[in-house]
Amino acid sequence: MKNYDIIVIGGGPAGMMAAGRAGELGAHVLLIEKNDRLGKKLSITGGRRCNITNAEYDNRIFLDNFPESKHFLFSPFSQFNVEHTFEFFEGRGLPIMIEDHKRAFPKSEKASDVCKVLERYIQESGNVTVQLNTEFKSFIYIDGALQGVRTSKGLFHAPRIVLATGGLAAPETGSTGEGLSMLEAIGHTVVDPDPNLAPLRTSATWVHELSGTSVDDMTLRYIQNDKIKLKARGRLLFTHFGISGPLVINSAHQAKALLKVGPVTASIDLFPDYDLGAMDQFLIRLFDAHKNKQLKTVLKDLLQKNLSETLLKLAGPSLADTPVHSITKDERKRLVHTLKDLRFPIIGTMGFEWSIVADGGVIPQEVDFKTMTSRLFPNLYLIGDTININRPSGGFSLQLCWTTGWIAGTHAATN
Ligand SMILES: Cc1cc2nc3c(=O)[nH]c(=O)nc-3n(C[C@H](O)[C@H](O)[C@H](O)COP(=O)(O)OP(=O)(O)OC[C@H]3O[C@@H](n4cnc5c(N)ncnc54)[C@H](O)[C@@H]3O)c2cc1C
Repeated sequence: MKNYDIIVIGGGPAGMMAAGRAGELGAHVLLIEKNDRLGKKLSITGGRRCNITNAEYDNRIFLDNFPESKHFLFSPFSQFNVEHTFEFFEGRGLPIMIEDHKRAFPKSEKASDVCKVLERYIQESGNVTVQLNTEFKSFIYIDGALQGVRTSKGLFHAPRIVLATGGLAAPETGSTGEGLSMLEAIGHTVVDPDPNLAPLRTSATWVHELSGTSVDDMTLRYIQNDKIKLKARGRLLFTHFGISGPLVINSAHQAKALLKVGPVTASIDLFPDYDLGAMDQFLIRLFDAHKNKQLKTVLKDLLQKNLSETLLKLAGPSLADTPVHSITKDERKRLVHTLKDLRFPIIGTMGFEWSIVADGGVIPQEVDFKTMTSRLFPNLYLIGDTININRPSGGFSLQLCWTTGWIAGTHAATN
């Protein structure tokens, strides 16, 4: 059997980066992946366009997006940060473009191109053996020391092991959580996985019926006990189960925390630039300009067709065919309210299958972030989604993979 210096378990972005880096430095690496190809989740990221990082070059500002864990991350980001990510990918022939909120994507807009760069990186040193269709089962653990791994294809030994099996988000891509169970089995403290960045569910059927409709600019509020607990503005997508879009996904953990306390109502303001009075004045002017038209025709110019139909159902179905000059003041006020405070109950988050990131993983206190080694086992490296680090969407998750993977590869190869 061939002797390896390092075994990397998991061929996602973090594992591929670690394996490639260690191979580049001359280590003999075995990369184990249970799927029949590398980077299955990576290839569906960012709607298959891959939001590869967030183009904030100032480490301090970048790490403000990790409020609970930023103090752990200064050291790794002093070794490999966003600028290095740009150099890494652009230097390997993958130009990157920057969109709103500094979200960075490959110019080709293909997540598969990101995968290809990493696959080439892994192959280029000739030092990395990729073993696909091989499932990691457990650690070989003798006298308190990790000496290798048991897999569906037999035993493999190496003095250093990098665990990159991911979290539980999108389990159909291979991240099914065995890595975390194995860490728990050898004594690590693992926070139970829980869908974090995920769409939200509602029981309101009119929301489900709007599935596929998106609103580019609105304000979303979460209300509990008549108090506004969260207010955020941006794009919203109605789905067959509830609501989605970056704004919803990023606020899902707050909604989840509120749901633990009691019922939560969502309220959508479709015209956030107008207060109630201004909205009323706007409708008065609009109705004056189109006196003889039916309300349903006037609303269609204001909102998308299915959204205006839903609004009419909610504000008063009998109004649809009414010419706007006959609409009473009370009816208009009701319409204003519906446009500015469209309410529905939130009943939970969608499960792991729909989540982008799942909370959970090894607690950061048990990781030495200078080298990405476990504080319990000096020859075990933990990277990517195996560590419990809360962060928003926008390229932050993959940047964590590039940073932690590169550091683990570097230190495992030179240790
Ligand atoms: C739909 C979706 C879109 C996303 N979009 C973005 C985005 O645009 N930008 C961004 O920054 N983040 C995005 N994310 C989050 C990002 O994809 C993850 O944070 C990232 O993939 C984590 O990388 P990882 O290498 O730690 O784990 P993973 O990508 O989960 O890879 C782990 C690998 O380990 C393998 N594995 C697991 N268990 C075993 C085992 N027992 N034996 C062998 N192999 C095993 C798996 O098959 C998998 O290939 C998205 C996530 C999802 C679900």
